[in-house]
Amino acid sequence: MPSKCRQHGINRAPVGPPVAAASIYLDHQATTPCDPEVVAAMAPWWSDGFANPSSRLHRPGLEAAAQLGCSREQLAAALAVPPEAVVLTSGATEANNLAIKGLCEARLGRGRHIVTVATEHRAVLDPCRYLERLGFALTVLPVASDGLLDLAQLEMALRVDTVLVSVMAANNEIGVLQPLEAIAAICRARGIAFHVDGAQLVGHRRFEPLELGIDLLSLSSHKFYGPKGVGALVVAPGVELMPQLHGGGQEGGLRSGSTPLPLVVGLAEALSRALADAPERAQRLGQLRDQLWQGLQSLGGVKLNGSANQRLAHNLNVSFEGVDGARLHSALRRRLAVSGGSACSSDSAEPSHVLLALGRSRQEAAASVRFGLGRSTTVEQIDHTLEWIHQQLQVLR
Ligand SMILES: *Cc1c(COP(=O)(O)O)cnc(C)c1O
Repeated sequence: MPSKCRQHGINRAPVGPPVAAASIYLDHQATTPCDPEVVAAMAPWWSDGFANPSSRLHRPGLEAAAQLGCSREQLAAALAVPPEAVVLTSGATEANNLAIKGLCEARLGRGRHIVTVATEHRAVLDPCRYLERLGFALTVLPVASDGLLDLAQLEMALRVDTVLVSVMAANNEIGVLQPLEAIAAICRARGIAFHVDGAQLVGHRRFEPLELGIDLLSLSSHKFYGPKGVGALVVAPGVELMPQLHGGGQEGGLRSGSTPLPLVVGLAEALSRALADAPERAQRLGQLRDQLWQGLQSLGGVKLNGSANQRLAHNLNVSFEGVDGARLHSALRRRLAVSGGSACSSDSAEPSHVLLALGRSRQEAAASVRFGLGRSTTVEQIDHTLEWIHQQLQVLR
């Protein structure tokens, strides 16, 4: 089969993406474009400032180490945690794996029971299932039809041998916000560690994990207008983890591997910048989201997925009644860049486990659309989106 990839010759200028077909990008929960100011902040650290921050015997290395320290402080300050609490990783998937496996391994002598929720990201569910295969007991709690966790059910699930509870801050498909502070209080009273996958919330509102009583927090730079391939796990003081990558001993021994300084510079800068305009952005995108939802409701035959008020301002997820999911998405993708279930799942033929957990049928789940609004979203784009969906539904229904 001929390769679809264009050849990248060494002497040729790199080939960029195809000049964009007129697609309206509404998939900011899958990833966000990197802020140009962030790209500019990273630039010198790819070339002139290329030295390894672990090279402490020469000046370029020391300069890189000084910048790494500054970026770590910037990141820590944005999260109101001490710089030592930040463990840099390749993203939220790795942070979740380190948190879940690392904590369970460190507490092996204390118990072997983990509690999580049916609507978690695969990067939480799969490490938990992996531990289950190794002999841990796993409770996966259901959610109500609005996607929210029932605290009484959580309390009933806890056992004397429970070592970890993992609940996400904001859902990547339906944007639902879980009651983190209440969950943290329940865990703290029993000496159970509390991990939060914060990939969808960090950078979108001010979020102080230690203040909330969270022991472990995962975050990912590319979800808040930063570079891809970098993230962090925040580890509250006193919480012990076993490293999952062994080697050079970077990140206090918790995550070996040469530190990608340009990416870390970008991560810290992106978080500062994303938080600086977060309140404004949430207000503006909340209005656009409401405009979209009202427009969709007026077309008829749409159901909102997830709580109407306990959700991210920039997320809307709906099921369309009376249409085939595959046909709907092939019509929408001619103009819109939206997701159905989860873009993070490589097996896109399977209906979303999140929507099934809300009680949607397989057919409803397949005919669902996630609209993820972001910095670049405009009123005109929302108007065009509604117009396109209106036209397509007339054909499809
Ligand atoms: C995107 C996402 C992840 C994965 O993050 P990466 O940095 O891409 O590995 C994990 N959890 C949630 C909730 C996400 O939205």
